[in-house]
Amino acid sequence: MLTEKIILWDMSDFDKNKLDKIWDECLSILKDIISEDEFRTWFSVVTVSKFEDNFLYINVPSNYYYEHIEAHYLDELIRVIRRVINPSAKLRYVTKVTESDLMTMTSVNHTSIENFPQSAPVIINNPDIKELPNPFIIPGIKPIKIESQLKDEYNFDNFVEGSCNKFARSAGYAVAQNPGKTSFNPLLIYSPVGLGKTHLVHAIGIETKRLHPEKTVLYISADQFLRQYVKSVQDRTTNNFLQFYQVTIDVFIIDDIQFLENKQGSQEIFFQIFNWLHSQGKQIIITSDKAPANMVGFEQRVLSRLKWGLNAELQVPDVQTRINIIKKKLENDGNMHIPDDVVEYLAYSVNTSIRELEGALTSVQAHGVLSKQDITIDLAREIVDRFVKSNTREITIEYIQKMVCNYFNISMEQMLSRSRKGDIVTARHISMYLSRKLTKSSLVAIGDKCGKKDHATVLHACKSVENSCEINKDYRNNVEMIEKRILG
Ligand code: ADP
Ligand code: MG
Repeated sequence: MLTEKIILWDMSDFDKNKLDKIWDECLSILKDIISEDEFRTWFSVVTVSKFEDNFLYINVPSNYYYEHIEAHYLDELIRVIRRVINPSAKLRYVTKVTESDLMTMTSVNHTSIENFPQSAPVIINNPDIKELPNPFIIPGIKPIKIESQLKDEYNFDNFVEGSCNKFARSAGYAVAQNPGKTSFNPLLIYSPVGLGKTHLVHAIGIETKRLHPEKTVLYISADQFLRQYVKSVQDRTTNNFLQFYQVTIDVFIIDDIQFLENKQGSQEIFFQIFNWLHSQGKQIIITSDKAPANMVGFEQRVLSRLKWGLNAELQVPDVQTRINIIKKKLENDGNMHIPDDVVEYLAYSVNTSIRELEGALTSVQAHGVLSKQDITIDLAREIVDRFVKSNTREITIEYIQKMVCNYFNISMEQMLSRSRKGDIVTARHISMYLSRKLTKSSLVAIGDKCGKKDHATVLHACKSVENSCEINKDYRNNVEMIEKRILG
């Protein structure tokens, strides 16, 4: 690393101005290394404090920032500092311990997700409305009790991290530490259906309650919010409805905001609630099936509010994350054993949403139990074909390599090694050949994933497989058999 261009600053007589410049220089390099979103989230608020005894002291807003930066960006940060200042410079963090930090530290053991009773000036409680009971109030109890509506099992522990959700997850975690006090207000999480929005916002709510049990957290789907609003209009209790949200809630989580599309009245009331809560430093968390820029049927002023804080996307998880998610579910389920190759098969085959993945897993488990058959790849294939036919199986280089390794009964490490043993070389060649045939990857990309070979080596491997297929029937049969397995 130290072969990079080194700009050595003369640190003997620096002043604060110069130090700020040095830090700006560090930040500008860091900006090129990490993503813009990450930079904005984690470094835009970090400032420099002093340089002493070869330590650069930086100010971070809280312990949480310190821990996160240490865990995720330490290497990059040190590299940059050493490049800009001197090759042995070191780093220290300065955090101001605020009251809320102290509270965080002392309340870790709290597990309750119940809200404390609230003294509210109004009680929305209409016993006539049987089909639409107000979910937040238990009738007859004063002061009123507000049900958080949070589901225990949707917690952070069960929310598997992957690059698809890393950013949204960290932002959510930061919000739970300091609800209403970060710049992520509102925090808006968006994605198509089944990718974990509901789960994640519950996790944020649960974590908030764990850290700040005195705060009143409310989760509500926009659909439920809309129905309540409509009912309040019919009953002429809209003012109560409005006051309920404005007076009692500290953390307001509203799920699937797209339900308010083209609903002017409910948008208006949402707008008022939003403005009030925001001005009072209360936290607002919103989910949507698309980014605000692509939302239609919303008033401009509502959209502009949605863009105020942080918008974070949840993406389709990669194969490894899908495998981890299935394993997590199995771990939580307890007794049902599913062999690893079936887990992998499901993860590779169901690549649309996590909800579908869970559906496929449940079907496989159910069939295993009902038919008293062992759960095998064949059973899984049958079920996936029958139940999730709409999926186009994702054929990746890794998947091809796995199938080829299985066929030759060798490990992935052997495949990626430099070994010249007959079977291993054949497997390596066939996986390059099939990757070229069955994926859209370039020769360079294939070479890269097959043990860092260059494109000429891949081309050579492909040619050699084609030649062998022409002159050797057994060899051709093997290749065809593997291809069939891969295509399912
Ligand atoms: P959405 O609200 O985006 O439609 P959900 O939050 O309802 O998606 O997620 C669908 C299912 O997938 C839920 O059962 C949820 O627990 C599960 N799920 C989503 N993301 C994850 C994850 N990262 N780790 C574990 N399970 C997840
Ligand atoms: Mg949802």
